[in-house]
Amino acid sequence: MYGVSVVLPTPAHSRLPEVLSYRHSASLPLGTLVRVPLGARELLGVVWMPAQGMDEPELATLKPITSVLDVPPLGKAWVDLIRFAAGYYQRFAGELAMAALPPQLRDLDEVQFARLMKKREKMMSFPRRRESTDVAMDSRLRGNDQVTGTDDGVIGGNDAACELSPEQEQVLAQLQSDDPRPKLLFGATGSGKTEVYLRRIEQVLAADEKAQALVMVPEINLTPQMEARFQGRIEARFGAGTVVLMHSGMTPAQRTASWLAAHLGHARLVLGTRLAVLASMPHLRLIVVDEEHDPSYKSQDGSRYSARDLAVYRASSSGSSERIQVILGSATPSIETWHNANGVGRYQRLDMPSRISSAAMPKVRLVDMRLQQKGELMAGGLAPALMAAITERAERGEQTLLFLNRRGYAPVLNCGSCEWKSACPNCSANQVFHKKDRRLRCHHCSLTTSVPRQCPLCGNLDIGMQGRGTEQLEEMLVAQLGTKFRVLRLDADSTSAKGSLEAQMASVHAGEVDVLVGTQMVTKGHDFRRITLVAAVNPDSALFAADFRAPERLFSLLMQAAGRAGRDASMSGQAEVWLQTQHPQHLLYKTLAAHDYPAFAATQLAEREAAAMPPFSYQALVRAEGRTQELAQAFLDSAAAVVATEPEFEPWRDPASKNYVTLYPAVPMPMQRIANVERAQMLVEAPSRMALQRMLASWQPYLRELKTTGVLRWALDVDPLTI
Ligand code: ADP
Ligand code: ZN
Ligand code: ZN
Repeated sequence: MYGVSVVLPTPAHSRLPEVLSYRHSASLPLGTLVRVPLGARELLGVVWMPAQGMDEPELATLKPITSVLDVPPLGKAWVDLIRFAAGYYQRFAGELAMAALPPQLRDLDEVQFARLMKKREKMMSFPRRRESTDVAMDSRLRGNDQVTGTDDGVIGGNDAACELSPEQEQVLAQLQSDDPRPKLLFGATGSGKTEVYLRRIEQVLAADEKAQALVMVPEINLTPQMEARFQGRIEARFGAGTVVLMHSGMTPAQRTASWLAAHLGHARLVLGTRLAVLASMPHLRLIVVDEEHDPSYKSQDGSRYSARDLAVYRASSSGSSERIQVILGSATPSIETWHNANGVGRYQRLDMPSRISSAAMPKVRLVDMRLQQKGELMAGGLAPALMAAITERAERGEQTLLFLNRRGYAPVLNCGSCEWKSACPNCSANQVFHKKDRRLRCHHCSLTTSVPRQCPLCGNLDIGMQGRGTEQLEEMLVAQLGTKFRVLRLDADSTSAKGSLEAQMASVHAGEVDVLVGTQMVTKGHDFRRITLVAAVNPDSALFAADFRAPERLFSLLMQAAGRAGRDASMSGQAEVWLQTQHPQHLLYKTLAAHDYPAFAATQLAEREAAAMPPFSYQALVRAEGRTQELAQAFLDSAAAVVATEPEFEPWRDPASKNYVTLYPAVPMPMQRIANVERAQMLVEAPSRMALQRMLASWQPYLRELKTTGVLRWALDVDPLTI
């Protein structure tokens, strides 16, 4: 008999220990998947430590393992990754391990799992089976391609490799060098970064017949086009079935199949969203994080890890003989990454400043909204000159993309004679007016009510609207252009039905749309060939936001949107980006107009350094949700009291020491109340990452023991993205 240590899906705030002990007739290797009893339940677990020597009486007290799943163990590298992530993000290892495994695995007993493996083996013996669906998809996409008249062969299975640009050649050569540092591929939109990823993947996979690669993209980028591009290229060379997807939109069975393919080494390339960073890939040699600045890489619930940062860790922890290369790609890197690739030199920066086939970057024009006469503005809030530019493009057969980050018709209704506003009764937010179904809808708690006929407070019949959303913009555009041209709105409302986003995208690609209106959903990744005008209707709000990362996000969003314009070199000469603003002299817009990300980043870094903010300090947030704001804050106050009084926290209390950790007072969160739950947060900050890590690790057990009267939930967020 042997003692076996196992981690289970027990979150850190449950009162169970992180690792539980069981006994088994054989010693089990690290990473073995097992099923074990816990109370009345049977749970999936992972063997977490080598077998311990125990004496008989000790072993007799342990419960036996129920069964061992018949699949190779997950291996030391994977266990180390999960262990690191759990330590860094202050989670239990079991919680992260489970986030890394396909959900279906938890529900399969030994017999069901064996059946699944058998079925899989049978399917593997018909390797060409998948092809019928692939061909169907390729021809569908190619069909669209022909309609738009593009024939660069990116989309579809027979993607012919093109000749690399000199910049691409040089970057590829640098990627082949021995420099072990993480790479930042700093490339303009349309500079051909994806082509570089593909070439590098092909090299790495060709050099070692077992090698595997992982490509991560932001949630929103994982389109059928993207998928077809990677699949077409890699499967043509390395065989059908060698590319698998990994994202949360897949069915449980699909996720299990992808996970197994990656774990067993059959998949040579995994293409996925942030959750793919935790995939078991025993022969992983290359990780690409595309659009590395994208906030969707940081999970906002559950284990709150940063997939980008874990990708860098995963590469750095690899041995020198089996080195994993990591490439972070972006036209607007996160300020942290930029800092690492410049000042600090921790990353190697590789530049591709030019667009492919000398397509020019679009010209940026700032529309000074202070000069617009109120009566002259179009109903959707457009300056007349912008409306004229849109019309002109449509008449030339070119497409316009209009971007407004507010869905609905009007963000708030108000009474003309009293204080009444369409405030959501459950949230610290307003209900938004949706004209199409004449409803008021809260975008935070989804509360939907009908529009009052008269003011609920004073009975006044004159209820007005404030602000403008995408629905209003669409209505105005249809009224102006609708008889001759097609206007399409793309936002969470217009795409809520399953498959409708894909259908709408296809119609844009097919050239059926002249003016595309939408929220930030429209700005990312889609390769619309005939777009020569991109306009941001109201981008100013982020300029003065409390969140210090808001300017960074605005810059990248606008740059990304600008990147949609003029991707076709033959039209790039006329490509323009229009920004409607009250602050045309703002440095953010100035640097954007010059397409000068380095200048923008320099201003951000200077501000952050002066204010000792990340990347010049390290942060964590404790968040608490309670029935009242007082109770939520009381929880945070007692958490702070622990640090102030317990002797154990002495090392972090001395303001003169470099290990000093600052605890800021508990405050309401920016969105203070959602669905009648009050939210509070406390910021923890330190100049040293190590000091912060150690302090949090010591704090965690105290937090778990704190009284939680009236507190529904609390969570620790390390390296939070929004404060
Ligand atoms: P990015 O990812 O940097 O925005 P892409 O890799 O999507 O850019 O490339 C933009 C377009 O240029 C794509 O249509 C791609 O097929 C094309 N392209 C990339 N590299 C080359 C090349 N060397 N020659 C011709 N076309 C290229
Ligand atoms: Zn009123
Ligand atoms: Zn609400």
